[in-house]
Amino acid sequence: MPDTDRGFAARTLPAPAGADPDVVIVGAGPAGLLLGLLLGRRGRSVLLLERAPRPRPGPGNGICPILQPVTLGVLDDLGLLPDLAKGTTPVTRGEVVAGGATVAAHSYGDLPGAPVDHALPVSILQLRDVLTEAVRATPGVEIVYDATVHGLPARADEETGVRCVRVETDAGVRTLRPALVVGCDGKHSAVRGMAGITARTRTYTHGYLELRVPMPEFWGTTMRAYFTADGYMLGTPIADDQLLFVWITAPEIAERATSGPLPDLVERFAAGIPDAADWIRDHTHDRSRFREFAHHIVRPERWVDGNVLLVGDAAHGVHVYGGQGLNLSLQDAACLAQACDEALSGKDAGALHRFEAVRRPYVSGFQDMQEAHLEALATAATSGPRQRDRGDGQHLPEFAPLALGQPELRTALSHAGRPAGTRS
Ligand SMILES: Cc1cc2nc3c(=O)[nH]c(=O)nc-3n(C[C@H](O)[C@H](O)[C@H](O)COP(=O)(O)OP(=O)(O)OC[C@H]3O[C@@H](n4cnc5c(N)ncnc54)[C@H](O)[C@@H]3O)c2cc1C
Repeated sequence: MPDTDRGFAARTLPAPAGADPDVVIVGAGPAGLLLGLLLGRRGRSVLLLERAPRPRPGPGNGICPILQPVTLGVLDDLGLLPDLAKGTTPVTRGEVVAGGATVAAHSYGDLPGAPVDHALPVSILQLRDVLTEAVRATPGVEIVYDATVHGLPARADEETGVRCVRVETDAGVRTLRPALVVGCDGKHSAVRGMAGITARTRTYTHGYLELRVPMPEFWGTTMRAYFTADGYMLGTPIADDQLLFVWITAPEIAERATSGPLPDLVERFAAGIPDAADWIRDHTHDRSRFREFAHHIVRPERWVDGNVLLVGDAAHGVHVYGGQGLNLSLQDAACLAQACDEALSGKDAGALHRFEAVRRPYVSGFQDMQEAHLEALATAATSGPRQRDRGDGQHLPEFAPLALGQPELRTALSHAGRPAGTRS
């Protein structure tokens, strides 16, 4: 893993007045870092403002999302895949198990047009490390930590809708005047609020539980989705030789299970995942192996407002069901680098709005699907045995679109990580 603390000294803003960057990105998470990297490689000057005091966020952020082939293709073209693949196990297949039988099976290698033949579970810390290293090696891109954005005041010298960034660091408060301000500050985005963009948020406080156990040899490289009497369970290899189990169910069932005795909770997972039942019982002796997360579906009314743009979770919080939040965010950033570049050069003033027009209905459709499927899963889990036994894999997003991304953007994504002149 790269040493991201190396060279960690720059906590002040680049000095000279009059040398405002082309783009200020608020939030050095995965989406902000990838966008900054791609814009830097296009010759744009970029300043990333991160509110955390150092490159690595706190330990609570140790989640391990699964990157799909289309997202890996972008990162591979940037030369980052070998570092990302260190210490993790590729996932080569997906299976759906319902009523005790395998009702669907897919191999990533069989998908026509997949840029790589697997998905990759990556620790979010490792992903941030790798992207941060790449950003630091890119001329024209700076990251400032411990930076608090206080507001996006309107620019007095410009037409309506053009905003500056008021930011506080150790060096004091300064107003920056970039051509573009990008909110990559996550699902609770402050940029969104400061730009006056309202958002509808649906919060799922309970009903998502994770269990991590050591990776057994018998499991292989398959991700398995189980429809059970208690909702939906997923078993997948993740980084550091761990096997991750996820349980999505009705909030009241999750609450009862987590507040009851540990053996009962262990038994819920063992019953839901018969392929690993004994392994789960043998390796789960304390509650520290379980974690509960809240998820949010966030729908802002627009993504572009004057020179302010929302990207990643700031533009669309999604539930973890279907495993797309990070994938969508990185894919947004990959496509938007070109659109931002075109908007900045004056070649195509409408590029950002056009991206929103293509992308937002797709993401919104995905969010609709999540809401409907999560409700159906919760209803089935709390209803009588007859309805419960009907779980047959129908409440699962389709495999190919998750792996290959939005059809209208696949060509753009296949070019996004390659420097101009090397595209086939
Ligand atoms: C348990 C769990 C499992 C998940 N599994 C998957 C999965 O399998 N597949 C998948 O695709 N996705 C998954 N996700 C979702 C994924 O983690 C997010 O979608 C992704 O991290 C979004 O990236 P982002 O860069 O848009 O935002 P974030 O990762 O939220 O980054 C935002 C950054 O902005 C900074 N910031 C916030 N506010 C400010 C501010 N005011 N000023 C400056 N900086 C600020 C933050 O410190 C952070 O660095 C999962 C999420 C969870 C919780």
